Order: sequence, then C-alpha cells, then structure tokens
Amino acid sequence: MSIDGMIRSVDNGITIYSWRVFEPWKERITVGITGRTGGFSAPPLHSLNLGHLVDDDPSVLDKNRAEVAAALGVPEASWAVANQIHGTRIGMVNHEPEGPFDSCDALYVSKKGIIAAILLADCLPVAVYDPGRLRGIICHAGWRGTAAGIAEVAVKHLVDDGSRLENLIAATGPGIGPCCYPVGKEVVQRFRHSFDYQENVILNDGEDGYRLDLEEANLVRLRASGLKEENLGRAGFCTACRREEFFSYRKDGEHTGRHASLMILL
Ligand SMILES: [Zn+2]
Repeated sequence: MSIDGMIRSVDNGITIYSWRVFEPWKERITVGITGRTGGFSAPPLHSLNLGHLVDDDPSVLDKNRAEVAAALGVPEASWAVANQIHGTRIGMVNHEPEGPFDSCDALYVSKKGIIAAILLADCLPVAVYDPGRLRGIICHAGWRGTAAGIAEVAVKHLVDDGSRLENLIAATGPGIGPCCYPVGKEVVQRFRHSFDYQENVILNDGEDGYRLDLEEANLVRLRASGLKEENLGRAGFCTACRREEFFSYRKDGEHTGRHASLMILL
C-alpha cells in the first residue's frame, strides 16, 4: 500500500514504511521507518516503542526489537542504535565493536546485516545511499540538526569517502509537518542565520506566527549539496497528523515512545 512517497508493508503486525525512491535497490537495502503499532509496550508508549531512553521495561523493549528484526529477516542481536544529542556527528557502524554510538545523530553503514537505527517522535529521518558502493547514512534531523546542516554533513562524508554525488540517492521524512509545527523566534533566527532563508522553509502566518517545514528544509539542503532532483524522495506526510501510526512528541507529550528509522544493507 502506498502513502505519498512511501510504501507501507505489514509483516506479523509490524508496519514498515519504506521510501519509494529506494525501490530499485530493495534487494540490497532496506531503508525506512517503523510505525507505532504492533509490539508490547504499555501506554503511553503503546505499542512498538523502540526508544531505550524513555521509561519502558527493558525486557519489553527487547521483545519489540526482536519483533522488528524478525519482520526484517535479520538476527535480533544486530541493532546499532544512536544516542542522539541534536548534533551532526556520525557514528561508524562498519567496525567492531558495534557501538555504543554516543553523541551521534547519524549512523554510517557499510556492513551487511546490521540494523542501524535512529529514534524519532516527530523529528525527521534523512537517508542517503550510494547504490554503487553499497553504503549509506541514516540521520536524525530535528530543527537543530537541520539548521546545523546534518543532511549536508552526511553527503559530504560519503563524497569524502569516495562516493560520486551524481550516484547518491536520498530521502526525507516523515516527521512533523508545517501543519503542526509552530516555532518561536529562536528557531526562526537560527534558520535565518545559518541557512539560506527561504519562504517555503519558514512559513509566516502574520504577526509573530511562524511554522517550520522540516522536510522541505532538509530537501533544500540535499539539493544545495548537489544531489539530483530525480534522486530525491520525500515521505510527504506529517507524523503529528498520523498519531495512530507514529509517535508524536508534540501531540502526545514528552512521555510518548519512539519509532525508528532504519537502514539495513542486505
Ligand atoms: Zn500535521
């Protein structure tokens, strides 16, 4: 089943949304985002919480991770999870031991069979993949990471590592949409200061009312990095509008769970 730029598949009660733009390489990479349904977590983390820094029972979290691994067809011990701080540091998942990935908001993957995961509740995932060199980076982009240029940092890392810009495929979202994301002057100033300010990134409702389009902001950054338009995909929907399907920090509050954006080389 398709939703805007993503395809939704359900396996044993676990829903995975994968970006359409990566479909040509689906034999080599699984990259997408989990939904909140399925799993075993009790309210307010119901029910497929994958966040280890929220107040969930560790044994329940293990069961949830095992369910996702089974749905993906990879061993349940293969999780590599970022401990995010809204920065731009990239953790390397190509070396042993696998983690911990402290103070990282992106994970670089070049090794098969590892579930590289970033955790989200309204923040936006950004995935960049080089199908020729079989490696990629999955990023956590809230407003701070976006303003700091995490999408560009990921692209630059891959290019410095030997990838050609014209080969890179990237996708964004879903995260909180401009429909549900009013922001204050601090955010507006930060974007005006550090970002090529564009009307379609910060939306002005008049007076002091502003809303941020996090997905568009990251697409602007990916285009500015030199990626081809035909190599960009976007989810195009809002996690806060789809609270039945995703965790939403803004709508459900700070005690909600976390879904995960995943990159697995097959
Ligand atoms: Zn919305």
